[in-house]
Amino acid sequence: MLEDKIIKVTCPKCGTQMSEAASFFKKPGKSCPGCGRQFTTERFKRAIEEAENLA
Ligand SMILES: [Zn+2]
Repeated sequence: MLEDKIIKVTCPKCGTQMSEAASFFKKPGKSCPGCGRQFTTERFKRAIEEAENLA
C-alpha cells in the first residue's frame, strides 16, 4: 500500500505550485486554485506522476 506522502506539483498551465498529499491530487473533481484546470487532464496527471517519483 502506498503511503500518502506530500508532493509538490506545479500546474502545467499557470505555474501555480501546490504542496498536498498525493491522494489529494487523485480525488475526482479537484482542480488548480490558480486557473481551475482539472487534475484529471493528461498533462496534470503526468506532472503528478513526476512529483510522486521525486518525493
Ligand atoms: Zn493552474
